[in-house]
Amino acid sequence: MDYEGRQTHLRSALVENRLDALLVTHLPNVCYLCGFTGSAGALLLTERGSVFFADGRYTSQARTEVRGARIVIAGGAPLLTAGEWLASHRQKTTGRGSCRVGIEGEHLSFAGYGRLTGMLGSGFRLRPAPALVEQARMVKDTEEMARIRAAVVLGASLFETALTAIRPGVKETKVAGAMEYAARKAGADGMSFPTIIASGERSAQPHGRASDAAIRPGGFVVCDFGVILAGYCSDRTRTVYVGRPDKDARRVYEAVREAQQAALDAIRPGRSVGEVDRASRKLLQKQGLGKYFTHSTGHGVGLEIHEAPRVAARQTELLRPRMVITVEPGVYLPRRWGVRIEDMVVVTEQGCEVLTPGSKELIAI
Ligand code: ZN
Ligand code: ZN
Repeated sequence: MDYEGRQTHLRSALVENRLDALLVTHLPNVCYLCGFTGSAGALLLTERGSVFFADGRYTSQARTEVRGARIVIAGGAPLLTAGEWLASHRQKTTGRGSCRVGIEGEHLSFAGYGRLTGMLGSGFRLRPAPALVEQARMVKDTEEMARIRAAVVLGASLFETALTAIRPGVKETKVAGAMEYAARKAGADGMSFPTIIASGERSAQPHGRASDAAIRPGGFVVCDFGVILAGYCSDRTRTVYVGRPDKDARRVYEAVREAQQAALDAIRPGRSVGEVDRASRKLLQKQGLGKYFTHSTGHGVGLEIHEAPRVAARQTELLRPRMVITVEPGVYLPRRWGVRIEDMVVVTEQGCEVLTPGSKELIAI
């Protein structure tokens, strides 16, 4: 991964945003910029260079992983170590007046902010910075795409396990467990989120995590699952029917499938993510199902399972080649059942490439 290149890019954004330094504390952002994958660390970017902070548990990991930054290991929390370092290096960081330090306002706790302010004193001005790293992360580079493709293939294969495990009388947790075990055996770092297996009326909850409910005949089962492989997430949803689907179930399933296709067809560089959302929503509205589509059409995926851009109504971010997003419309009929179909796609020069393999025909078990 080109960590130095990413830091250089961000350094030019510091100047544009009139910041002397950026204190990166959101771990996926730290990982993106310098390669550190541990669970506590901070990265300070200044015009003159970068410094990475961690505690003693990460001495050897930091030396192995961190690229493009000096490493400072100390006893306390990385945020406070960064604060101490800044306080004692103010002259070196700015060489003039007060030092403007950008913080990640969405990720720094109120308590952390308070401690940092107290520690830095009047020579510093802390400012919430725009989401500079998140912006950069939206467009994936070649190495990231290779990792994402591998994660998508491994993640998608778990549906085969689900199809074997889903039977009337089997608990949702047992299906999820079989899939998660298969993922680990196949080499996944872990799951990108707790596997969703929502059967019967529970399928009408968009985020129905697997429960101890037994799967009953005559209803949909929403399976939403993904893995983390080499740091990158996958995300896929398929909905199957247990028993023989009636006309209504078939109609709704087809409507969701068409809505998903409409959104896929709407994806191309220069279009806004809001337009992609509108494409699937409009189709479901025409079928009288609009009010049952209760979430947004998709989201970015990468180091995090949910990252920028949000593919939602009124979002104005423009699609660019190499953005990776999900397309996942759904219909949820309260106290009856729900249907969702989700693929991951990469935006190309002409439109998009669907990364998730596999059919979207209705499967009855
Ligand atoms: Zn999903
Ligand atoms: Zn998703």
